[in-house]
Amino acid sequence: MTRPLSLFLSRVVSSLLAMALALTAIGAFLAWAAGSVDREDIRRQGEIAGYALKEIRSNLSHNQESSTFWDEAVERTATGGNEQWIDDNLGSWMHAFFGVDEAYVLDGEDLPIYAFAGTEIKAPSFFENRRALLRPYLAALRAKLAAGEPPSRVAHEQSIGVSDYIYVSGRPAVLSIKPIVSDSGDLDQPIPTIRVHVAIQYLEGDVIDKVGQAHVLQNLKWVPAAALNPEAASISLRSDAGNVDIEFQWTPYRPGQRLLSSLSPVLILVASALMVGTLAISSASYRRKLDRIRNNEHIRYLASHDILTRLPNRSAYEQAADEMVDQLTSRQQAGPLAFLYMDLDRFKQVNDILGHQVGDAVLVEFARRATEIFPHNAPVYRVGGDEFAVLIPNRTKREIETLCGQIIDSVAEPMDIDGRRVFVGVSIGVSMAPQHGTDRQELHRKADVALYHAKMAGRRRFSIFGNQMDDAIQSRAAIEADLREALKSKTGLSVVYQPKFASQCGRILGAEALVRWQHPQQGAISPAVFIPIAEEANLIGDLGLWVLETACREAIAWPVDHLAVNVSPLQLRAPGFAEAVFAVLSRTGFAASRLELEMTETDFADSEEVGISNIRTLNSRGIAIAIDDFGTGSSTFERLRDISFDRIKIDQSFVKNITESKGDAEIVRAMISMAHAKGLKTTAEGVETAEQREVLRSFGCDEIQGFLMGKPMPPHQLRQIFDASGETVSQSLVKA
Ligand code: C2E
Ligand code: MG
Ligand code: MG
Repeated sequence: MTRPLSLFLSRVVSSLLAMALALTAIGAFLAWAAGSVDREDIRRQGEIAGYALKEIRSNLSHNQESSTFWDEAVERTATGGNEQWIDDNLGSWMHAFFGVDEAYVLDGEDLPIYAFAGTEIKAPSFFENRRALLRPYLAALRAKLAAGEPPSRVAHEQSIGVSDYIYVSGRPAVLSIKPIVSDSGDLDQPIPTIRVHVAIQYLEGDVIDKVGQAHVLQNLKWVPAAALNPEAASISLRSDAGNVDIEFQWTPYRPGQRLLSSLSPVLILVASALMVGTLAISSASYRRKLDRIRNNEHIRYLASHDILTRLPNRSAYEQAADEMVDQLTSRQQAGPLAFLYMDLDRFKQVNDILGHQVGDAVLVEFARRATEIFPHNAPVYRVGGDEFAVLIPNRTKREIETLCGQIIDSVAEPMDIDGRRVFVGVSIGVSMAPQHGTDRQELHRKADVALYHAKMAGRRRFSIFGNQMDDAIQSRAAIEADLREALKSKTGLSVVYQPKFASQCGRILGAEALVRWQHPQQGAISPAVFIPIAEEANLIGDLGLWVLETACREAIAWPVDHLAVNVSPLQLRAPGFAEAVFAVLSRTGFAASRLELEMTETDFADSEEVGISNIRTLNSRGIAIAIDDFGTGSSTFERLRDISFDRIKIDQSFVKNITESKGDAEIVRAMISMAHAKGLKTTAEGVETAEQREVLRSFGCDEIQGFLMGKPMPPHQLRQIFDASGETVSQSLVKA
C-alpha cells in the first residue's frame, strides 16, 4: 500500500468509522429509549382499552336494570296484551337509548314472549335461534334466583343477574340477563314465575368506535384472533366462563417514535455535521501529517541530492560506494566494480566568462547526457562543482572504456544554451575494484589520480588507473611550487625557437618560440607537462608574458618575417591582455607586424567577449593570429567565423599520416584549399620526412615546420643557421 493511501486510511477513514460507530451507538440508544417509552405507553393504552371495553359490559347490565327493576315491568310482562309497552320499555327503547342490539323477554320457563333483533321486533320464536347459546347462562341465572343470591355489590347492581362475553353467530358481544323484579318489593313473585330479560350488545361498529374516539385509540376494532396484525396493539377480553376470548386491536400511539421522527431531521443534521466536522478535522490532520512526511522526504531528498542537476550528491555517492564495495568484499557481487570520476574541462572558464547561469545550464545538460548513456543501475552522482562520479558494477574493462568514449563524444557535441553554442569537454579517471583496492576512499583517490592523468594528457579523454600514475601525481604539487619559484627567480626557464620555412623555396620565414624549463633535480620538463600546471596554478599569465618579452628581445634582429609565440586561452581571456602585449612591444621595440600569436582552435572557438575583444585589439595593431593544432578539435571554419585570423597550423597528427593515409592527405588538401579560399595562410607542423614535405608542397601549403628542417633550438644555434644561409637571410632582411 502506498504511504499516502495507508495514511489516509489510518487518519481519515478510521476517524470517520469511529465517529460513525459512536453515532450508531447513540442512534441505537435513542431507538431503544423510544422503544421502551412506546412499550410502556402501549401497555397503558391497553389498560385504558380494557377498562373502557369492560365498561360496556357493566353499563349494559346497569342500563338494563332501569327497565327490569320495576314494578310496572313485572306487571306488564305478567299478562298478555302488553306487547307495545314491552317494546317501548324493554325492546326498541333499550335499542334506541342504550344501543342494545338484541332483547328478549322470557317467561318463568324461559319461553319467549318478546323478541327484538337488529332494528325491529321479531316474532318471539326468533329467540329459538339463541336458545342453545344462552342455555347455560339462563340456567345460571335461574340457579342464582333459586339460591336467593344477593345482587353483586361490585357492579352496583340492584338485582342479581348474569353477564359475560360471548360470540353470537361469530360476532363478539356482551350478554346480560336480568330477572324482571319489583323495585318496591311489594309484588309477590314466586321464583319459578320470574320472567327474565336478555340483552345482547355487539362489540362492533359505533359502540367500539366511540370507545376508540373517547380514548384516542386509533382504528380500535375487534378482529378474529387469526387475523391479528402483529404491528398493531391488542388486548383480549376473556369470558367469565373462560371459553371465549375476544381480541381487539388498534393502531398504537408511539410517543417515543413520534419524538424520534420529529427530532430526526435535527439528529440527521447534527450527525452529518459531526461527520463533516470529523472529516474536516481528520483530513486536516491527514494533510498535516502528509505534509510532514513529504517535508521529511524532501529534506531527505535534499540531503542526498543536488538541487541543480537533481542527481544524487556526494553523500549518496559515498554511501552507495561503501555498500557496493561491501557487497564485493562479502562476495555478494561477483564482477568488478568500476569507479568513474569525471571532471568537466574548462568549466571554470565557462562559469567565469559566460556567467553562472550558463555554467549551471551546462551542468544540467551534462547530467542529462551522462544519465542517458550510463546503465540504469549506475546513477550519475554530482560529487563537486563540476565533478561527477559513477559506480558501474559487473562490466569488463573494455566495456568501461566504451562507455567512457561514448560520454566523451556526447559531451564534445556543442551544448545549445539560451541560443548560444557552448563547448565543454569531459575528462574521466577510472579505478577498478578489486584490482585497485577494496577501500572506497582508496578507489576514489585512484580514480581521481587517473582523472588528473587524463587532464594532463590533454583533456577530453579518459584514463584507467595505473601504479605509475601515483608517482606522477605526487610530483605535481612539487612541480607547481618549483615552477612558481623558477618564474620568480627566472632560473631554469629559457626559450627555444623552431624555424619555419617556405615550402616552395625553403627560405626561413619565421620562428616559433617554445618555452623550456630545466628543473634543478628532474632535468628538462616538457611544456606539455608544465604548461597545464601553470594554467591550473594561475601562473600562465606571467609565464606567457615572460616568454613573449624574452622572444621579442632575442628575435628583434633576426632576419625572419615573423616571430610566433604561443598563447594560452587563459591569457587571451584575461582583460588587458592586448595592452600587456603592446607594453612588451613598446618595451622591446619589436614591430607589431612581425608578431604572430598562436592559439588552439578550441580555445579560439570557446572565446567569449573578452577574448574576442582582445583579438580585435591585437588585430587592429597588425598582430597576426594563427590557429594552432588545427583539425584536432571538433571545430570547423564555421565555428571560427566570428574571429578574424591569419593562419592555420595543420596539426602534426595529420602530417604524420599524410604519406600513408589517403584520407588524411585528402583532409590536409581540403584544409589548405579552404584556408586559401578564405585568404588564410597555411603552416604544416611536425614535418619529419622529405616525402611529407613533398606532399605538402604539392598541396600548395605555404609554410612547413618540423624536425626535418629544424628542431626547436636555442637562439645562438638559430643564429648559426642564419649565418650559414647568408643569401636567404639577406633576402629575409631585405624583405623585413
Ligand atoms: P605547439 O605550439 O603545437 O608546438 C609544437 C610542438 O611540436 C613542440 O613541442 C615542438 O617541439 C613539437 N615539434 C615540432 N616539430 C616536430 C616534429 O617534426 N615532430 C615532432 N614529433 N614534434 C615536433 P613542445 O615544445 O614540447 O611544446 C608542446 C606544446 O606546449 C606546444 O605545442 C604549445 O602548445 C605548448 N607551449 C610551448 N611553449 C609554450 C609557451 O611559451 N606558451 C604556451 N602557452 N604554450 C607553450
Ligand atoms: Mg605552437
Ligand atoms: Mg601545434
